[in-house]
Amino acid sequence: MPFFKEIEHFGVTDVGVKRTHNQDAFTVQKAPDREHWLRVGHLFIVADGMGGHAVGEKASAKAVQEIPLTYVKYVHEGPPTALRRAFQEANAGINAVGTSNPEFRGLGTTATALLLRDEGAWLAHVGDSRAYRIRNTQIQQLTYDHSYAWEMARRLGIPPEELGEVKRNVIVRSLGPDPLVQVDIEGPYPLEDGDTFVLCSDGLSNLVPPDEIGAILAVLPVEEAGRFLVELANLRGGPDNITVLVVRVGETKDSFVSPPTGFVSRMTAGVRNGLAAWNRRVPWPITILLVGFFLAITFVVFAAANLPGASVFFAAAGVCIAGGVVGLYLHAKQERNTPPEVPVAPVSASIYRQYPVRIDASLVDQFLKSALQLKEQLEARDWKVDWAGYRAQADAAARGAGESDYITAFRHHCRALGKLAAPFNSNRPKEEAGFRPKWESTEL
Ligand code: CA
Repeated sequence: MPFFKEIEHFGVTDVGVKRTHNQDAFTVQKAPDREHWLRVGHLFIVADGMGGHAVGEKASAKAVQEIPLTYVKYVHEGPPTALRRAFQEANAGINAVGTSNPEFRGLGTTATALLLRDEGAWLAHVGDSRAYRIRNTQIQQLTYDHSYAWEMARRLGIPPEELGEVKRNVIVRSLGPDPLVQVDIEGPYPLEDGDTFVLCSDGLSNLVPPDEIGAILAVLPVEEAGRFLVELANLRGGPDNITVLVVRVGETKDSFVSPPTGFVSRMTAGVRNGLAAWNRRVPWPITILLVGFFLAITFVVFAAANLPGASVFFAAAGVCIAGGVVGLYLHAKQERNTPPEVPVAPVSASIYRQYPVRIDASLVDQFLKSALQLKEQLEARDWKVDWAGYRAQADAAARGAGESDYITAFRHHCRALGKLAAPFNSNRPKEEAGFRPKWESTEL
């Protein structure tokens, strides 16, 4: 059970600055014990509902409530099948609600599910919410955006970034509009220590580019990073609901032994792996029985040749064969009580986009400038700001930058900006509509 209890996670959903309703939803279903971990795993889902007047809320809530239940119901059929059926049943349910009442027309939701299990991470996905993985100095998008823009880009054979002006918020696949839905299932992605997954709605991904998400998660603890990402999206206008669910795989020294280097250690590792492979395939009582038979043959050979020590082999063979028979009985009894092994159908584990995470002077400078601009805006207003906290972080950032320690500098700049962003965002909706900060654009 290598990853049990060693997963850190934090989820947050925010209405944003412009909207009155939050139509996003998320859920965390962590296995409470070892048995659940091995049989079910940890499930994390983000859903972004659409449709007017509280209708979208209904769809996303239904998705995050029903998908985990249906997944567990079918888990004996293996993760890919169970996830697919869970998404398809949720789709059918939402579709039924949407078609039953003209008021609910247009009911739909995206859904992106991350399932962590012993064999790795699985993804099930419909819509344009995203799953990223941050590993070392890369952030990778593991989901395909089911959007008009990505579909166009795919047909033209170009990266979505190169499309130019297209409607980026039109989605072409979601749960609800049609009675049947195609679900993307990917995995298993083998887990490594420190892998950080981010599930988010487009309220985040439209405003905070992946390289920044990666940089922020590289320097801040899980919860702080999640909250700061929301503040940042709101600072940049917060036009949509924002949901961020961060999952970090902790250190798992037991399951990732570093590869041996020397000849002797390679030999030892080879023998150990061989034994482990044998143990996986052959039940242990059979091994004992085989040893017993081997000892019995040795006894016969020794007895026939009148060699000394034959009686020792006779006794040892007797003990082994008796032990093996008892073992076989116990093993059969245990087999009956353990659930059948889950078949894992091979599916792809794609990385759709990949961006380097660079924490350098230019990123540090960009965040410093944003904080200074925001500081100016706040000084002109009479809002309650933790100025002492801001200055402490800004000073620490300046010291880091002075020593060319950009990681430290960036971490403290994020914290300094957070100290200013929180009061700004919470006071902002009360402001007159005419107030439009100039750093609303992506230059922040
Ligand atoms: Ca959205």
